[in-house]
Amino acid sequence: MENILVTGGAGFIGSNFIRYMLKKHPNYKIINVDSLTYAGNLENLSEISNQTNYTFLKADITDRKKMKQIFNSFDIDTVVNFAAESHVDRSIEEPELFLRTNVIGTQVLLENARDYWKLDSKNKYSTEYKPNVKFLQVSTDEVYGTLHESGKFTETMPLLPNSPYSASKASADLVVRAFHETYGLPVNITRCSNNYGPYQFPEKLIPLMIVNCLKGKSLPIYGDGQQVRDWLHVSDHCSAIDRVLHQGKDGEIYNIGGNNEKTNIDIVRLIIDKLGVTDDLIAHIEDRPGHDRRYAIDNTKIKTELKWEPIYKFEQGLNETIDWYKQNLHWVEDILSGDYLSYYQRMYVNL
Ligand code: NAD
Repeated sequence: MENILVTGGAGFIGSNFIRYMLKKHPNYKIINVDSLTYAGNLENLSEISNQTNYTFLKADITDRKKMKQIFNSFDIDTVVNFAAESHVDRSIEEPELFLRTNVIGTQVLLENARDYWKLDSKNKYSTEYKPNVKFLQVSTDEVYGTLHESGKFTETMPLLPNSPYSASKASADLVVRAFHETYGLPVNITRCSNNYGPYQFPEKLIPLMIVNCLKGKSLPIYGDGQQVRDWLHVSDHCSAIDRVLHQGKDGEIYNIGGNNEKTNIDIVRLIIDKLGVTDDLIAHIEDRPGHDRRYAIDNTKIKTELKWEPIYKFEQGLNETIDWYKQNLHWVEDILSGDYLSYYQRMYVNL
């Protein structure tokens, strides 16, 4: 592994992953391709922007011509695809954008990975075609749909997505699988639970609640707040992807979870307690259509086959995350720009 194309590297998980990889593997080169939507922020990577083993390119993964140029110019041997429209609420408003980026974008990358022929030592194309670009698709537990009181998601469960976002991610997973079965592309799919940690855009539950508590604003909670999610610290997610890249068996899917199931309302109450604000700020709003009730991840496969386990305890991770947002309110202010505000004013007029 030498030249890793990381897509969506200016977003929350992608930027954490790039920092993680360059620290752990300083001999790797990372090419970060991101179209810088509202969720992409180069400030997330300001401290590494001048490193010689890091390159940023502003480009859209659905742009076939540009993606081809990038594969050829940087001799890409590994792809980690984070680039996506990632917010379920937005997918309900604008499903087409989600299908374009999350499905077509993935397919464009897959085709480039499939068609990229390595030059041999004599600088000629090899005659025998065998795709050898490793492709890791970062997916989500939401593709499995919803669980009820008991049970956990395993990798063999059927895909039953309920939102346009999860449907687009499930569709991409199927295309990735097909490229392995049809063309022999060495792929892996990872399906993780809800991530939290530094640099997460404050539209997702944990940073939204932290930031609103710090500003004394209302805390919007869908319905009764009893929806259960598993929480994974972003650095545990990064170490899991690193493990799958190096040791994952071609064609395999790996679930990644944090062993931290919590209801949304419990998360909000924890944040309220830690920040010492009043729970009068809680505002129950109408539930989201198609809102999944419970997600829970069975980690057995990655734990037994790849010997990976999360190391973060939830309380420790949450404390660190709260501290990070307290110390980086300027980062929050910078990204709370027109697009985000107008979206939230439409969605939650009481904010
Ligand atoms: P994010 O929204 O913070 O970042 C997505 C990044 O992709 C942004 O930098 C954005 O500019 C970029 N992007 C969007 N469309 C693009 C396009 N057409 N071309 C190039 N770049 C584009 O998302 P995140 O939370 O970091 O999630 C990363 C990946 O992990 C996504 O694929 C998401 O589905 C998956 N995932 C996230 C979570 C989570 O809890 N955040 C959980 C499970 C899976």
